[in-house]
Amino acid sequence: MNTAQQLKNELYNINHKSYPAYKSLAGCYKFNNYILGIDHVQGDPFASPSKVHLEIDGKTAGFPAHLYDTVPKRIALQDHLTRRLGRELRAVSKKAGGSGKSGLIFISQCGQEILERSCCEIDPKSGSLYFRLEIGFPANGRSINSPELIKILFDFLPACIDKSLFYQALPKQELADVASLCEDQQFIRAELQRLHLSAFVANGSILPRMSGISHLPLKQAVPFQSPKSMEVTLMLPNHGPLTGMGIPCGITLIVGGGFHGKSTLLNALEMGVYDHIAKDGREYVITDSSAFKLRAEDSRYISNTDISLFINDLPGKRDTGSFSTQDASGSTSQAANVIESIESGSELFLIDEDTSATNFMIRDQLMQSVISDKEEPITPFISRVRSLYDRSGISSIIVAGSSGAYFHVADTILQMKDYVPYDITGRAKEAASGFPALHTEGLCYQMPDFSRCPKAAGNLTGNDRLKMKVMGKDSIQINRTTIDLRYLEQLADTEQLSALSYLLTYAVKHYVRPGRTLTEIVDLLEQQLTRKGLASLASGSYLPSNLARPRRQEIFACFNRCRDLIFG
Ligand code: ADP
Ligand code: MG
Repeated sequence: MNTAQQLKNELYNINHKSYPAYKSLAGCYKFNNYILGIDHVQGDPFASPSKVHLEIDGKTAGFPAHLYDTVPKRIALQDHLTRRLGRELRAVSKKAGGSGKSGLIFISQCGQEILERSCCEIDPKSGSLYFRLEIGFPANGRSINSPELIKILFDFLPACIDKSLFYQALPKQELADVASLCEDQQFIRAELQRLHLSAFVANGSILPRMSGISHLPLKQAVPFQSPKSMEVTLMLPNHGPLTGMGIPCGITLIVGGGFHGKSTLLNALEMGVYDHIAKDGREYVITDSSAFKLRAEDSRYISNTDISLFINDLPGKRDTGSFSTQDASGSTSQAANVIESIESGSELFLIDEDTSATNFMIRDQLMQSVISDKEEPITPFISRVRSLYDRSGISSIIVAGSSGAYFHVADTILQMKDYVPYDITGRAKEAASGFPALHTEGLCYQMPDFSRCPKAAGNLTGNDRLKMKVMGKDSIQINRTTIDLRYLEQLADTEQLSALSYLLTYAVKHYVRPGRTLTEIVDLLEQQLTRKGLASLASGSYLPSNLARPRRQEIFACFNRCRDLIFG
């Protein structure tokens, strides 16, 4: 391996030369306490920055094994170190300069959720660290400016690394707290199963966010307080006893007037599929990690999904046992979302009336008497929600402020009043008994058919390398196919969208085969990610530094929305 001094010498050699001479730097260099790898050099100062990595061996990094001896703890430590290093690096980004992206140092910016990212990997056996970053190699115009790159690689980077990647240099309590919180969160997840709960919301949690564009906790929010009847106390291994609201499996309704905090509670539950960092306010809001937010999604693509549980006898005799459209309506899209979510293994549905198709959710008595069931293709969700739980074990938490019809089918009814939940199950059930229940007799319940297999078409075929692009949290583009993901509200980070585009192209190349179902394909992908990590998706000389692992649910959802996958 080359020495750091050799790198410096080479940099002096190529100073003022034209930009492509930077390519000669590709390789690995031994610094004092780490290795710097230059994996890919950008073509010019305006192109996306060069890819580099850092390696620190386990002994030198010195993190004790109990900080990363389980997968969740390892991910939490990786997340923490990414934040530490990121803070240091952002302070020096652009401090060395030049044209275009010269001097830019790019590293993942972590939000409130703790995600597994390609930016940082800790080897579970040796404890060695591997970081991926991007650095804009400096230039004046198109000629190399070596002294500026020397500043970055020989001053800034070592100083940032010294401050953030060695156990000795870090506050011990902070690291211990990261591991303790993670253990407690995993403990709550296990307790959900044991106690048959769909979710747990600790008393004192802060649910609302600062604004539509900031996910930081709202200051001066009313802290969460569980109704007495729903309180459970969990004995966390580190925190000790923690009391909060346990939402039992089954059908839970959240009602209440407008602006009383219904959607805020539901949003917190949606994101409770991920662990959150300390001080987020939702670090003890833990939801069944398979939970899926179901909503209407007009104009989505559907390919041969069996939506017959909800929709039958469409005009023109369209087959709903294998329904396809390029442009779904509110109700058909929401029906497909339910079915595909069952396919992905979700055991909890989260639904907000604000984002649902009314005709998918309910059908009132008066309407039933005027338009007979025979003339209505839609069997509304309210007629299915009970059997989804009783027959398939899938719970639902539904925000319904404007329709009492669900009172009949709910197991638990919560009212939000001034941001505080009250258990009104008894009262609401009593009131409902005076009203006729929706008749659901004679409805047969049959598990949908999940045997469909995807086949690549259009832009996903051919041997050329696929071009991938990510548009924020809205969509990904593969060649010229856009996959609209804006309504997958549980995607927490644009890096998950980058990973989805990698997963999709990877699956098309390696796993999509005739006769193989979507479930089998996603299983293969997930096994690979679990065994070999995100790094195993690399196709060229390097893996992008900006991938975050999405959940199984979002992988399914992304594949199902890809207009160049045809299911049959
Ligand atoms: P709903 O769905 O019942 O109409 P929302 O959940 O949208 O109500 O909440 C309405 C407003 O109240 C939002 O701006 C939200 O940020 C705020 N809010 C929600 N919960 C709290 C809370 N616990 N403390 C303070 N403000 C809150
Ligand atoms: Mg609302």
